[in-house]
Amino acid sequence: MLTIRSVEAYPLKIPYVRPFVLSRGVVGKPGIPGDHLYVRIEASDGTVGWGEARLMHTWMYETLESAYTSLVNYIAPVLKGMDPFSLNLILRRLDKLLTPVVSSGQPFIKSAVETALFDIIGKATGQPIHRLIGGRISDYVELSAMMSGDPEAMADYAREMASKGYRCFKVKIMGDPVEDVERLKIVSEAVPDATIWADANQAYTSYSIRKLLNFMEDMDIKRVICLEQPVPTWDYEGLKRIVSKSSIPIAVDESMFSHYDLIKLISANALDLIVLKLAKSGITGNLKIAALAEAAGIDLFASGMTESGVGFTASVHLFSTLPIAAPIDINGPQFLESLIVDGLEFEGAKVKVPDKPGLGVKVREDKIEEYRVELKL
Ligand SMILES: [Mg+2]
Repeated sequence: MLTIRSVEAYPLKIPYVRPFVLSRGVVGKPGIPGDHLYVRIEASDGTVGWGEARLMHTWMYETLESAYTSLVNYIAPVLKGMDPFSLNLILRRLDKLLTPVVSSGQPFIKSAVETALFDIIGKATGQPIHRLIGGRISDYVELSAMMSGDPEAMADYAREMASKGYRCFKVKIMGDPVEDVERLKIVSEAVPDATIWADANQAYTSYSIRKLLNFMEDMDIKRVICLEQPVPTWDYEGLKRIVSKSSIPIAVDESMFSHYDLIKLISANALDLIVLKLAKSGITGNLKIAALAEAAGIDLFASGMTESGVGFTASVHLFSTLPIAAPIDINGPQFLESLIVDGLEFEGAKVKVPDKPGLGVKVREDKIEEYRVELKL
């Protein structure tokens, strides 16, 4: 029987080639790299699986340091000696170890571990990850283009990305209705055939958002396919009020990390759409969410945490198996100096779902050494 021999963590700082700002602060920009933890799990026959947690503590509470110590001090001793195919048992043990209490209990590092195990299982069976979960429903995954920051610069960048084949533009809005409607208008005018996806990252209240929604109706912005996470993560009552009044569909991201969250949102009529992320729920958790959403008639959108190649590729495998309703916002390729993997194939705004075993890409260990940092613990 295959067993887990070693579990290692590599804290990385990956540079940004262009700025990425949202209402909760700077995600990354030239001079301010992103925090990534690469997880390397080795099985008894030498098979290696990789996982990635992209930590962004202004978006969710896990930090590069906490993910590192959770993995090395708590998760690794439990994993060692276990069968990597025992995913259900491993995920139950991880939830007992880092217990969900209202929240999901350190979901980012658990998701990274799960990705590494799926990578091992895929390599051990000669199957790509998408085939381990029922198989892809499309050969390619289409990506959205992420826009943030200064409106004029966004418009130029939107035109550039449209010329590369992007058809859906995600615009980060910041909480000021006058400036935000300008952002949406400028991008919308720059790419007149595109669809627009607005993401507030919790910047509004159910009262302050009314002004923005009124402006948007006056300005005839009909191509906005959704308004994502207008209010803080806990504000289900506010979401409910907005959903009951808005003619633009309301999507939930930070308010939903699990199927436990989703059943409460559905019961409260507090959403029109959900936004899936590999990091929030892992592969197994996302499949549970997708099944519940289908039963409730809730369409799926999907995004990410600006992961590099491992998290990006795992997301591609997962989302290729689900009926995602809009081009996916996994935007590491737009912002990061390197994806740290070889083997991804892009065609314009589309990425091919890999067909080699496991993740189906090769992690560049030279890049891991280049970006690796020592943590102060
Ligand atoms: Mg979001």
